[in-house]
Amino acid sequence: MTNLRTRLALTYSLVIISAVVVLSFVSNILANQLFAGYVKDSIQRKNTEIVSAMANQYDSSRNRFNTGTVQTLGMSFLHDGFILVLKDNNNRTVWDARACDLDLCADVIKDIQSRTNHKMDHVELMKEEFPLIQNGKKVGTIVVESFGPLFYTENESNFLAAFNKFVIVIGAIFAILSAIVSIIISSRISKPILNAASTAEKIEHGDFSARVDEQSKTVELNQLAKSINGLALALENGEQWQKRVTSDISHELRTPLTTLQGNFEAMIDGVVKPTPERIQSCYEEVVRLNKLVEDLKQLSILERENIHIHKTQVDLFSILKSVVNQHFVDADSKGIQLHLEGKPSPYIGDANRLTQVFVNLLSNAIKYTDHGEIIVSLKLNRKNEYEISFKDTGIGVSEEEIPHLFERFYRADKSRNRKTGGAGIGLTISKSIIDAHEGVIQVESELGKGSCFTIILSTNI
Ligand code: ADP
Repeated sequence: MTNLRTRLALTYSLVIISAVVVLSFVSNILANQLFAGYVKDSIQRKNTEIVSAMANQYDSSRNRFNTGTVQTLGMSFLHDGFILVLKDNNNRTVWDARACDLDLCADVIKDIQSRTNHKMDHVELMKEEFPLIQNGKKVGTIVVESFGPLFYTENESNFLAAFNKFVIVIGAIFAILSAIVSIIISSRISKPILNAASTAEKIEHGDFSARVDEQSKTVELNQLAKSINGLALALENGEQWQKRVTSDISHELRTPLTTLQGNFEAMIDGVVKPTPERIQSCYEEVVRLNKLVEDLKQLSILERENIHIHKTQVDLFSILKSVVNQHFVDADSKGIQLHLEGKPSPYIGDANRLTQVFVNLLSNAIKYTDHGEIIVSLKLNRKNEYEISFKDTGIGVSEEEIPHLFERFYRADKSRNRKTGGAGIGLTISKSIIDAHEGVIQVESELGKGSCFTIILSTNI
Protein backbone atom coordinates (compact mmCIF):
# COMPACT_ATOMS: atom_id res chain seq x y z
CA MET A 1 0.00 0.00 0.00
CA THR A 2 1.51 3.34 -1.04
CA ASN A 3 0.77 6.53 0.82
CA LEU A 4 -1.34 9.31 -0.68
CA ARG A 5 1.59 11.69 -1.14
CA THR A 6 3.68 9.19 -3.10
CA ARG A 7 0.70 8.12 -5.12
CA LEU A 8 -0.25 11.69 -6.03
CA ALA A 9 3.37 12.61 -6.79
CA LEU A 10 3.78 9.55 -9.02
CA THR A 11 0.52 10.18 -10.86
CA TYR A 12 1.28 13.86 -11.43
CA SER A 13 4.84 13.12 -12.55
CA LEU A 14 3.71 10.36 -14.88
CA VAL A 15 1.09 12.57 -16.52
CA ILE A 16 3.38 15.58 -16.91
CA ILE A 17 6.43 13.58 -18.01
CA SER A 18 4.31 11.71 -20.59
CA ALA A 19 3.02 15.06 -21.88
CA VAL A 20 6.57 16.43 -22.10
CA VAL A 21 7.86 13.30 -23.86
CA VAL A 22 4.99 13.30 -26.38
CA LEU A 23 5.42 17.03 -27.00
CA SER A 24 9.18 16.68 -27.49
CA PHE A 25 8.68 13.73 -29.80
CA VAL A 26 6.03 15.48 -31.91
CA SER A 27 7.98 18.74 -32.12
CA ASN A 28 11.09 16.78 -33.08
CA ILE A 29 9.26 14.92 -35.88
CA LEU A 30 7.67 18.13 -37.12
CA ALA A 31 10.97 20.01 -37.14
CA ASN A 32 12.68 17.13 -38.96
CA GLN A 33 9.92 17.04 -41.57
CA LEU A 34 10.05 20.78 -42.14
CA PHE A 35 13.78 20.61 -42.38
CA ALA A 36 13.63 17.68 -44.81
CA GLY A 37 11.34 19.75 -47.09
CA TYR A 38 13.82 22.59 -46.96
CA VAL A 39 16.71 20.23 -47.82
CA LYS A 40 14.82 18.70 -50.77
CA ASP A 41 14.16 22.18 -52.15
CA SER A 42 17.79 23.12 -51.83
CA ILE A 43 18.87 19.95 -53.70
CA GLN A 44 16.51 20.86 -56.52
CA ARG A 45 17.83 24.40 -56.56
CA LYS A 46 21.36 23.02 -56.67
CA ASN A 47 20.43 20.77 -59.66
CA THR A 48 19.09 23.82 -61.49
CA GLU A 49 22.26 25.72 -60.61
CA ILE A 50 24.44 22.83 -61.91
CA VAL A 51 22.47 22.58 -65.18
CA SER A 52 22.67 26.33 -65.80
CA ALA A 53 26.38 26.53 -64.86
CA MET A 54 27.32 23.61 -67.11
CA ALA A 55 25.23 24.84 -70.05
CA ASN A 56 27.07 28.14 -69.82
CA GLN A 57 30.39 26.32 -70.35
CA TYR A 58 29.45 25.40 -73.89
CA ASP A 59 31.39 27.50 -76.36
CA SER A 60 29.06 27.65 -79.41
CA SER A 61 31.74 29.33 -81.57
CA ARG A 62 33.98 26.29 -81.12
CA ASN A 63 31.14 23.77 -80.72
CA ARG A 64 32.72 22.34 -77.60
CA PHE A 65 32.66 22.65 -73.83
CA ASN A 66 35.24 24.68 -71.99
CA THR A 67 36.82 21.71 -70.23
CA GLY A 68 38.98 23.80 -67.87
CA THR A 69 36.07 25.56 -66.18
CA VAL A 70 33.91 22.39 -66.43
CA GLN A 71 36.57 20.62 -64.35
CA THR A 72 36.74 23.46 -61.77
CA LEU A 73 32.95 23.57 -61.50
CA GLY A 74 32.64 19.77 -61.42
CA MET A 75 35.14 19.51 -58.56
CA SER A 76 33.39 22.25 -56.64
CA PHE A 77 30.02 20.49 -57.03
CA LEU A 78 31.72 17.21 -56.09
CA HIS A 79 32.72 18.80 -52.76
CA ASP A 80 29.09 19.71 -52.24
CA GLY A 81 28.10 16.05 -52.74
CA PHE A 82 27.13 16.07 -56.45
CA ILE A 83 28.92 13.60 -58.74
CA LEU A 84 28.61 14.87 -62.30
CA VAL A 85 29.09 13.37 -65.76
CA LEU A 86 28.96 15.85 -68.64
CA LYS A 87 28.16 14.50 -72.12
CA ASP A 88 28.01 16.28 -75.44
CA ASN A 89 25.27 15.94 -78.05
CA ASN A 90 26.98 12.84 -79.45
CA ASN A 91 26.78 11.25 -76.04
CA ARG A 92 30.53 11.42 -75.64
CA THR A 93 31.75 11.99 -72.09
CA VAL A 94 33.27 15.46 -71.77
CA TRP A 95 33.98 15.28 -68.05
CA ASP A 96 33.38 12.52 -65.48
CA ALA A 97 33.91 13.18 -61.78
CA ARG A 98 34.79 9.55 -61.12
CA ALA A 99 37.26 9.34 -63.97
CA CYS A 100 38.80 12.60 -62.97
CA ASP A 101 39.35 11.96 -59.30
CA LEU A 102 38.32 8.56 -58.12
CA ASP A 103 39.78 8.94 -54.66
CA LEU A 104 38.11 12.26 -53.96
CA CYS A 105 34.86 10.85 -55.30
CA ALA A 106 35.09 7.86 -52.94
CA ASP A 107 35.91 10.18 -50.07
CA VAL A 108 32.94 12.40 -50.84
CA ILE A 109 30.63 9.38 -50.92
CA LYS A 110 32.05 8.08 -47.63
CA ASP A 111 31.76 11.49 -46.03
CA ILE A 112 28.17 11.86 -47.17
CA GLN A 113 27.32 8.42 -45.86
CA SER A 114 28.83 9.21 -42.49
CA ARG A 115 26.75 12.37 -42.27
CA THR A 116 23.43 10.76 -43.14
CA ASN A 117 22.00 9.72 -39.80
CA HIS A 118 20.17 6.49 -39.12
CA LYS A 119 16.76 8.10 -39.66
CA MET A 120 17.77 8.68 -43.23
CA ASP A 121 18.73 5.11 -44.01
CA HIS A 122 16.50 5.26 -47.05
CA VAL A 123 19.13 7.61 -48.50
CA GLU A 124 20.67 6.24 -51.63
CA LEU A 125 22.68 7.48 -54.54
CA MET A 126 20.19 9.01 -56.93
CA LYS A 127 20.96 9.53 -60.56
CA GLU A 128 19.22 12.21 -62.62
CA GLU A 129 19.83 13.35 -66.17
CA PHE A 130 19.19 16.91 -67.37
CA PRO A 131 19.53 18.31 -70.93
CA LEU A 132 21.84 21.33 -71.22
CA ILE A 133 20.14 24.09 -73.23
CA GLN A 134 21.89 27.15 -74.54
CA ASN A 135 19.97 29.76 -76.56
CA GLY A 136 17.10 27.31 -77.02
CA LYS A 137 19.39 24.57 -78.39
CA LYS A 138 20.40 21.39 -76.65
CA VAL A 139 24.18 21.42 -76.26
CA GLY A 140 24.66 18.32 -74.13
CA THR A 141 23.52 16.34 -71.13
CA ILE A 142 24.53 16.42 -67.51
CA VAL A 143 24.14 13.36 -65.28
CA VAL A 144 23.88 14.36 -61.63
CA GLU A 145 24.39 11.74 -58.97
CA SER A 146 23.60 12.84 -55.48
CA PHE A 147 22.45 11.31 -52.25
CA GLY A 148 18.74 11.63 -51.90
CA PRO A 149 15.96 12.04 -51.49
CA LEU A 150 17.45 13.63 -48.36
CA PHE A 151 20.98 14.62 -48.02
CA TYR A 152 22.21 17.00 -45.33
CA THR A 153 25.24 19.12 -45.74
CA GLU A 154 27.57 19.27 -42.77
CA ASN A 155 26.00 22.54 -41.51
CA GLU A 156 22.51 21.18 -41.94
CA SER A 157 23.23 17.96 -40.10
CA ASN A 158 24.97 19.92 -37.32
CA PHE A 159 21.91 22.15 -37.00
CA LEU A 160 19.59 19.16 -36.88
CA ALA A 161 21.70 17.39 -34.27
CA ALA A 162 21.81 20.57 -32.14
CA PHE A 163 18.05 20.99 -32.47
CA ASN A 164 17.40 17.38 -31.45
CA LYS A 165 19.72 17.78 -28.49
CA PHE A 166 17.96 21.02 -27.53
CA VAL A 167 14.54 19.30 -27.57
CA ILE A 168 15.86 16.41 -25.44
CA VAL A 169 17.49 18.77 -22.90
CA ILE A 170 14.36 20.98 -22.65
CA GLY A 171 12.24 17.82 -22.29
CA ALA A 172 14.49 16.52 -19.52
CA ILE A 173 14.46 19.89 -17.70
CA PHE A 174 10.66 20.00 -17.86
CA ALA A 175 10.42 16.41 -16.69
CA ILE A 176 12.60 17.18 -13.64
CA LEU A 177 10.70 20.42 -12.93
CA SER A 178 7.37 18.63 -13.25
CA ALA A 179 8.54 15.93 -10.83
CA ILE A 180 9.54 18.62 -8.28
CA VAL A 181 6.24 20.51 -8.75
CA SER A 182 4.33 17.20 -8.41
CA ILE A 183 6.03 16.45 -5.12
CA ILE A 184 5.24 19.97 -3.80
CA ILE A 185 1.58 19.85 -4.92
CA SER A 186 1.02 16.34 -3.61
CA SER A 187 2.46 17.21 -0.22
CA ARG A 188 0.22 20.29 -0.11
CA ILE A 189 -2.79 18.08 -0.72
CA SER A 190 -1.74 15.20 1.48
CA LYS A 191 -0.63 17.34 4.48
CA PRO A 192 -4.13 18.50 5.51
CA ILE A 193 -5.49 14.99 4.90
CA LEU A 194 -2.78 13.51 7.12
CA ASN A 195 -3.56 16.19 9.72
CA ALA A 196 -7.24 15.32 9.56
CA ALA A 197 -6.40 11.61 9.84
CA SER A 198 -4.18 12.13 12.89
CA THR A 199 -6.87 14.31 14.54
CA ALA A 200 -9.48 11.63 13.82
CA GLU A 201 -7.13 9.09 15.39
CA LYS A 202 -6.79 11.25 18.54
CA ILE A 203 -10.59 11.52 18.70
CA GLU A 204 -10.82 7.75 18.28
CA HIS A 205 -8.55 7.39 21.31
CA GLY A 206 -10.80 9.62 23.41
CA ASP A 207 -9.15 13.03 23.01
CA PHE A 208 -12.32 14.91 22.07
CA SER A 209 -10.59 18.28 22.45
CA ALA A 210 -8.45 17.54 19.36
CA ARG A 211 -9.19 19.79 16.39
CA VAL A 212 -7.97 20.09 12.82
CA ASP A 213 -6.39 23.56 12.80
CA GLU A 214 -5.01 23.84 9.31
CA GLN A 215 -6.97 26.00 6.92
CA SER A 216 -6.58 24.61 3.41
CA LYS A 217 -7.21 26.53 0.21
CA THR A 218 -9.09 23.50 -1.10
CA VAL A 219 -12.83 23.61 -0.43
CA GLU A 220 -13.18 19.84 0.03
CA LEU A 221 -10.27 19.66 2.48
CA ASN A 222 -11.74 22.55 4.48
CA GLN A 223 -15.04 20.71 4.50
CA LEU A 224 -13.29 17.59 5.78
CA ALA A 225 -11.58 19.59 8.56
CA LYS A 226 -14.91 21.22 9.44
CA SER A 227 -16.70 17.85 9.59
CA ILE A 228 -14.02 16.31 11.82
CA ASN A 229 -14.07 19.37 14.10
CA GLY A 230 -17.87 19.19 14.22
CA LEU A 231 -17.67 15.51 15.11
CA ALA A 232 -15.11 16.22 17.85
CA LEU A 233 -17.27 19.04 19.24
CA ALA A 234 -20.35 16.81 19.29
CA LEU A 235 -18.41 14.08 21.08
CA GLU A 236 -16.91 16.63 23.50
CA ASN A 237 -20.35 18.07 24.25
CA GLY A 238 -21.72 14.56 24.67
CA GLU A 239 -18.92 13.69 27.05
CA GLN A 240 -19.44 16.91 29.05
CA TRP A 241 -23.18 16.30 29.07
CA GLN A 242 -22.63 12.82 30.39
CA LYS A 243 -20.28 14.06 33.15
CA ARG A 244 -22.65 16.89 34.09
CA VAL A 245 -25.70 14.66 34.17
CA THR A 246 -23.93 11.99 36.17
CA SER A 247 -22.83 14.54 38.76
CA ASP A 248 -26.22 16.32 38.74
CA ILE A 249 -28.11 13.08 39.17
CA SER A 250 -25.93 11.77 41.96
CA HIS A 251 -26.22 15.15 43.67
CA GLU A 252 -30.00 15.31 43.25
CA LEU A 253 -30.56 11.73 44.39
CA ARG A 254 -28.11 11.79 47.27
CA THR A 255 -29.97 14.31 49.46
CA PRO A 256 -33.43 12.69 49.45
CA LEU A 257 -31.92 9.20 49.71
CA THR A 258 -29.80 10.24 52.70
CA THR A 259 -32.90 11.76 54.34
CA LEU A 260 -34.87 8.59 53.67
CA GLN A 261 -32.05 6.38 54.93
CA GLY A 262 -31.74 8.50 58.11
CA ASN A 263 -35.47 8.33 58.73
CA PHE A 264 -35.66 4.57 58.24
CA GLU A 265 -32.56 3.93 60.39
CA ALA A 266 -34.04 6.04 63.18
CA MET A 267 -37.30 4.10 62.93
CA ILE A 268 -35.51 0.69 62.82
CA ASP A 269 -33.30 1.63 65.80
CA GLY A 270 -36.39 2.75 67.68
CA VAL A 271 -35.04 6.30 68.01
CA VAL A 272 -38.27 7.60 66.46
CA LYS A 273 -41.62 5.93 66.16
CA PRO A 274 -42.86 4.88 62.73
CA THR A 275 -45.95 7.05 62.92
CA PRO A 276 -48.32 7.18 59.92
CA GLU A 277 -47.18 10.83 59.34
CA ARG A 278 -43.50 9.78 59.20
CA ILE A 279 -44.24 6.89 56.88
CA GLN A 280 -46.40 9.25 54.75
CA SER A 281 -43.52 11.76 54.59
CA CYS A 282 -41.08 9.01 53.54
CA TYR A 283 -43.59 7.80 50.98
CA GLU A 284 -43.87 11.32 49.53
CA GLU A 285 -40.09 11.50 49.27
CA VAL A 286 -40.09 8.17 47.41
CA VAL A 287 -42.82 9.52 45.07
CA ARG A 288 -40.74 12.63 44.49
CA LEU A 289 -37.68 10.51 43.75
CA ASN A 290 -39.70 8.45 41.34
CA LYS A 291 -40.88 11.59 39.57
CA LEU A 292 -37.31 12.83 39.45
CA VAL A 293 -36.13 9.61 37.82
CA GLU A 294 -39.02 9.82 35.34
CA ASP A 295 -38.15 13.46 34.55
CA LEU A 296 -34.50 12.52 34.05
CA LYS A 297 -35.52 9.79 31.65
CA GLN A 298 -37.61 12.31 29.71
CA LEU A 299 -34.76 14.80 29.65
CA SER A 300 -32.32 12.17 28.51
CA ILE A 301 -34.61 11.24 25.64
CA LEU A 302 -35.04 14.88 24.69
CA GLU A 303 -31.43 15.95 25.00
CA ARG A 304 -29.50 12.87 23.97
CA GLU A 305 -31.59 10.88 21.57
CA ASN A 306 -32.77 13.88 19.67
CA ILE A 307 -36.30 14.75 20.40
CA HIS A 308 -38.83 12.89 18.30
CA ILE A 309 -41.58 15.26 17.38
CA HIS A 310 -44.64 13.76 15.73
CA LYS A 311 -46.10 16.77 14.07
CA THR A 312 -49.73 16.84 13.07
CA GLN A 313 -52.24 19.61 12.59
CA VAL A 314 -53.46 20.65 16.03
CA ASP A 315 -55.49 23.44 17.58
CA LEU A 316 -53.34 25.15 20.18
CA PHE A 317 -56.38 26.66 21.86
CA SER A 318 -58.05 23.24 22.30
CA ILE A 319 -54.88 21.87 23.89
CA LEU A 320 -54.67 24.85 26.25
CA LYS A 321 -58.35 24.52 27.09
CA SER A 322 -58.05 20.88 28.09
CA VAL A 323 -54.89 21.62 30.19
CA VAL A 324 -56.62 24.53 31.93
CA ASN A 325 -59.72 22.38 32.58
CA GLN A 326 -57.55 19.72 34.24
CA HIS A 327 -56.12 22.34 36.63
CA PHE A 328 -59.27 24.17 37.69
CA VAL A 329 -59.62 22.04 40.81
CA ASP A 330 -55.99 22.58 41.89
CA ALA A 331 -56.24 26.33 41.34
CA ASP A 332 -59.60 26.48 43.07
CA SER A 333 -58.28 24.57 46.08
CA LYS A 334 -55.68 27.33 46.53
CA GLY A 335 -58.27 30.05 45.98
CA ILE A 336 -56.68 31.09 42.70
CA GLN A 337 -58.80 32.28 39.79
CA LEU A 338 -57.87 30.64 36.53
CA HIS A 339 -58.72 32.35 33.22
CA LEU A 340 -58.23 31.27 29.64
CA GLU A 341 -58.23 33.76 26.77
CA GLY A 342 -57.90 33.10 23.06
CA LYS A 343 -59.50 31.54 20.06
CA PRO A 344 -58.94 28.45 17.88
CA SER A 345 -55.42 28.57 16.47
CA PRO A 346 -54.35 25.90 13.95
CA TYR A 347 -50.74 24.77 14.18
CA ILE A 348 -48.52 21.92 12.99
CA GLY A 349 -46.92 20.45 16.07
CA ASP A 350 -46.73 17.58 18.51
CA ALA A 351 -49.91 17.72 20.63
CA ASN A 352 -48.53 15.46 23.40
CA ARG A 353 -45.29 17.39 23.78
CA LEU A 354 -47.06 20.75 23.71
CA THR A 355 -49.53 19.46 26.34
CA GLN A 356 -46.51 18.49 28.47
CA VAL A 357 -45.13 22.06 28.22
CA PHE A 358 -48.49 23.71 28.98
CA VAL A 359 -49.07 21.37 31.96
CA ASN A 360 -45.64 22.21 33.34
CA LEU A 361 -46.09 25.96 33.00
CA LEU A 362 -49.60 25.96 34.43
CA SER A 363 -48.80 23.61 37.32
CA ASN A 364 -45.75 25.78 38.13
CA ALA A 365 -47.94 28.88 38.07
CA ILE A 366 -50.36 27.23 40.51
CA LYS A 367 -47.52 25.79 42.60
CA TYR A 368 -45.76 29.14 43.02
CA THR A 369 -48.89 31.25 43.49
CA ASP A 370 -50.68 31.50 46.82
CA HIS A 371 -53.47 33.89 45.90
CA GLY A 372 -54.70 36.03 43.06
CA GLU A 373 -55.15 34.84 39.53
CA ILE A 374 -53.56 33.03 36.67
CA ILE A 375 -54.30 34.13 33.12
CA VAL A 376 -53.52 31.74 30.30
CA SER A 377 -53.80 33.53 26.96
CA LEU A 378 -53.24 32.71 23.33
CA LYS A 379 -53.01 35.52 20.79
CA LEU A 380 -51.26 36.57 17.58
CA ASN A 381 -48.49 39.11 18.04
CA ARG A 382 -47.44 41.91 15.67
CA LYS A 383 -45.17 39.53 13.78
CA ASN A 384 -48.15 37.22 13.21
CA GLU A 385 -46.73 34.59 15.59
CA TYR A 386 -48.64 32.72 18.27
CA GLU A 387 -47.93 34.06 21.73
CA ILE A 388 -49.03 31.74 24.53
CA SER A 389 -48.55 33.20 28.00
CA PHE A 390 -49.03 31.94 31.56
CA LYS A 391 -49.28 34.96 33.83
CA ASP A 392 -49.55 34.52 37.56
CA THR A 393 -49.62 36.73 40.64
CA GLY A 394 -47.34 34.36 42.53
CA ILE A 395 -44.05 34.63 44.37
CA GLY A 396 -42.03 35.47 41.23
CA VAL A 397 -38.27 35.06 40.85
CA SER A 398 -35.48 37.57 41.29
CA GLU A 399 -33.80 39.21 38.31
CA GLU A 400 -30.51 37.34 38.91
CA GLU A 401 -32.27 34.00 38.86
CA ILE A 402 -34.25 34.52 35.66
CA PRO A 403 -31.38 33.53 33.28
CA HIS A 404 -30.93 30.22 35.12
CA LEU A 405 -34.55 29.08 35.23
CA PHE A 406 -34.26 26.87 32.14
CA GLU A 407 -31.06 25.19 33.35
CA ARG A 408 -31.28 21.61 34.47
CA PHE A 409 -31.99 21.13 38.24
CA TYR A 410 -32.21 24.86 38.76
CA ARG A 411 -34.58 25.93 41.48
CA ALA A 412 -35.03 29.52 42.46
CA ASP A 413 -34.50 29.97 46.20
CA LYS A 414 -33.61 26.29 46.73
CA SER A 415 -34.61 25.97 50.38
CA ARG A 416 -38.05 27.28 49.58
CA ASN A 417 -38.50 24.92 46.66
CA ARG A 418 -37.33 21.79 48.36
CA LYS A 419 -40.64 21.92 50.17
CA THR A 420 -42.65 22.28 46.99
CA GLY A 421 -41.07 19.09 45.71
CA GLY A 422 -39.83 20.35 42.31
CA ALA A 423 -36.64 18.92 40.86
CA GLY A 424 -35.90 21.84 38.53
CA ILE A 425 -36.19 19.82 35.34
CA GLY A 426 -39.65 20.81 34.10
CA LEU A 427 -38.58 24.08 32.46
CA THR A 428 -35.52 22.42 30.89
CA ILE A 429 -37.78 19.81 29.29
CA SER A 430 -40.23 22.52 28.20
CA LYS A 431 -37.45 24.50 26.54
CA SER A 432 -36.19 21.42 24.67
CA ILE A 433 -39.70 20.75 23.35
CA ILE A 434 -40.23 24.37 22.28
CA ASP A 435 -36.75 24.40 20.66
CA ALA A 436 -37.73 21.29 18.71
CA HIS A 437 -40.76 23.25 17.46
CA GLU A 438 -38.37 26.06 16.48
CA GLY A 439 -40.13 28.29 18.95
CA VAL A 440 -39.00 30.50 21.82
CA ILE A 441 -39.80 30.35 25.52
CA GLN A 442 -39.09 33.35 27.71
CA VAL A 443 -39.94 34.67 31.14
CA GLU A 444 -40.65 37.97 32.80
CA SER A 445 -40.86 37.96 36.56
CA GLU A 446 -40.70 40.17 39.58
CA LEU A 447 -40.04 38.86 43.04
CA GLY A 448 -43.20 38.94 45.13
CA LYS A 449 -45.38 40.18 42.28
CA GLY A 450 -45.66 37.32 39.83
CA SER A 451 -44.28 35.74 36.68
CA CYS A 452 -45.23 35.51 33.06
CA PHE A 453 -43.90 32.65 30.96
CA THR A 454 -44.40 33.19 27.21
CA ILE A 455 -44.05 30.77 24.34
CA ILE A 456 -43.72 32.11 20.80
CA LEU A 457 -44.49 29.74 17.93
CA SER A 458 -44.56 30.66 14.28
CA THR A 459 -47.88 30.25 12.48
CA ASN A 460 -46.84 27.36 10.26
CA ILE A 461 -50.05 26.61 8.40
P1 ADP B 1 -39.63 22.55 39.41
O1 ADP B 1 -39.97 21.12 39.31
O2 ADP B 1 -38.68 22.88 40.50
O3 ADP B 1 -40.83 23.44 39.40
P2 ADP B 1 -39.05 23.75 36.88
O4 ADP B 1 -37.95 23.49 35.95
O5 ADP B 1 -40.44 23.62 36.36
O6 ADP B 1 -38.79 22.80 38.10
O7 ADP B 1 -38.84 25.19 37.47
C1 ADP B 1 -37.58 25.62 37.88
C2 ADP B 1 -37.66 26.67 38.93
O8 ADP B 1 -38.22 27.88 38.37
C3 ADP B 1 -38.59 26.33 40.03
O9 ADP B 1 -37.92 25.59 41.02
C4 ADP B 1 -39.01 27.67 40.55
O10 ADP B 1 -38.04 28.18 41.44
C5 ADP B 1 -38.96 28.54 39.32
N1 ADP B 1 -40.32 28.76 38.76
C6 ADP B 1 -40.88 28.10 37.73
N2 ADP B 1 -42.12 28.58 37.46
C7 ADP B 1 -42.32 29.56 38.34
C8 ADP B 1 -43.42 30.47 38.57
N3 ADP B 1 -44.54 30.45 37.85
N4 ADP B 1 -43.31 31.36 39.60
C9 ADP B 1 -42.17 31.40 40.33
N5 ADP B 1 -41.12 30.60 40.16
C10 ADP B 1 -41.19 29.69 39.18
